[in-house]
Amino acid sequence: MANTNFDYDLFVIGGGSGGVRAARVAAGEYGAKVALAEDDRYGGTCVIRGCVPKKLMVFASGYANVVDEAKCYGWDLTEGPFDWHGFKTRLNTELDRLEGVYRNLLAGSGVDTYDQRAKLKDAHTVELADGTTKTAKHILVATGGRPIRPDIPNAELGIVSDDIFHLEKLPKSILIIGGGYIASEFACILNGLGVEVTQYYRGAQILRGFDEEARGLVAESMRENGVDLHVGTNILEMSLLADHKDGAMPTQSDAAMGASVQQAQDIHTQSSGANAGRKGPIWVKSTTGGEKVFDMVLFATGRDPASTDMGLEELGVKLGRKGQIEVDEYSQTAVPSVYAIGDVTDRVNLTPVAIREGMAFVQTVFGANPTPVDHDLIASAIFTQPEMGTVGLSEEDAREQEEIEVYSTSFRPMQSAFAEKSDRVLMKLVVSKKDRTVLGCHIVAPNAGEMIQLAGIAVKARLTKEQFDATCAVHPTMSEELVTMRNPTRTA
Ligand code: NDP
Repeated sequence: MANTNFDYDLFVIGGGSGGVRAARVAAGEYGAKVALAEDDRYGGTCVIRGCVPKKLMVFASGYANVVDEAKCYGWDLTEGPFDWHGFKTRLNTELDRLEGVYRNLLAGSGVDTYDQRAKLKDAHTVELADGTTKTAKHILVATGGRPIRPDIPNAELGIVSDDIFHLEKLPKSILIIGGGYIASEFACILNGLGVEVTQYYRGAQILRGFDEEARGLVAESMRENGVDLHVGTNILEMSLLADHKDGAMPTQSDAAMGASVQQAQDIHTQSSGANAGRKGPIWVKSTTGGEKVFDMVLFATGRDPASTDMGLEELGVKLGRKGQIEVDEYSQTAVPSVYAIGDVTDRVNLTPVAIREGMAFVQTVFGANPTPVDHDLIASAIFTQPEMGTVGLSEEDAREQEEIEVYSTSFRPMQSAFAEKSDRVLMKLVVSKKDRTVLGCHIVAPNAGEMIQLAGIAVKARLTKEQFDATCAVHPTMSEELVTMRNPTRTA
């Protein structure tokens, strides 16, 4: 299929989930001549420094409660320490394996790969870091995003989520800044692994944009589990304790401080910038006036599209305020031969969405079947402890739109209630009063991510409350409540 005027039919920049899928389907299923450039590890954010290692850490962290619970069920078990080094070794082996899978998938589809940075030279030409150029009929930018630090002095003393998987040791204490997915997930993970976790979120409640009742329960559970969560609080100043003019640490004993200093000096934080390579406990002043010292500070304050220094604007590709590549419903940019998918377009920043955008791009360009990407009713999960699974409208957003009925129940699940734990779960449906469609489903529970995947099918199919009710319950489960809630909790 190769167009004789170009080296390739398609040149993909970025070897993450979206880029790899588009490249191998275009080559493998449509016979296109395809190349892909990646200057880091294949697999991108999701596989190498996001979803996959994070989820494995969620599993590791979840075992913290197992011994206590198992004892209540009659097991004679004793708890041992968590071995970060042992876990990390296995984690790295798994990531190497997955990266190999990605490379093999590309090779198996006949995609040429270039392990170097690429940028656009003109509408059909890509320039590689070694100075060579390749021409292509179509160019697909799938470079993802990267974590950002807030603009405060000494911010480079803090780590970002990419760095967590490389830590030599877990810190004794950590301050996490932010209240989004990454901040809340890592607060729970690290808390479970025995780190003293403090979280500052500048707004009134973490997980802004999600259903109030659901995020309220997540926040309450996080606090009960030991996360020192402060809302309405942000970081104001930070410096190495050694550089802090008062030098004194107001909230820890000298002995504790000594241990903390040693611990922090042992931790490799991979900071860059003016403080690169400098280590030690970090003094922090918050917007509410408190001063504290932490072994580590993690900025989980959002991610920016990786679109800088790519030659995009020079070419006429339009970028938005955050640097996101602006595309139409077919992922086409203002330059017709250049397309973009995934986090670099800052639409819905989730791996399965990037993959679907990649597939829709291939169908549009190589399948002669223009396919817009459907971004409506995407289910997602936040892997806090407990997890939150969500699809559709929150109660608050639905109420803005139309009259609704809310069916909601919160209870102690059988498994942990038997183990005398106070954990609560939430099952909630937001229903249109007019046509009875289930507009939103929100679950806070262990394995809510697994549950919302299935509930998501029903919500995406726009089933009604009566169709939910016609489904016989699976008993005894937590999720049976989704088909047994007879009377609305409230109407609005
Ligand atoms: P989010 O945008 O979800 O959260 C960023 C957080 O940082 C918000 O709480 C924001 O506050 C806060 N913040 C931003 N700037 C500052 C600042 N200057 N000072 C203090 N706080 C600040 O980003 P994440 O990095 O957590 O995640 C990025 C994306 O990655 C998510 O949107 C999601 O799409 C994806 N993701 C998905 C996961 C999943 O599906 N489980 C897991 C991890 C990531 P405010 O609310 O006030 O703006």
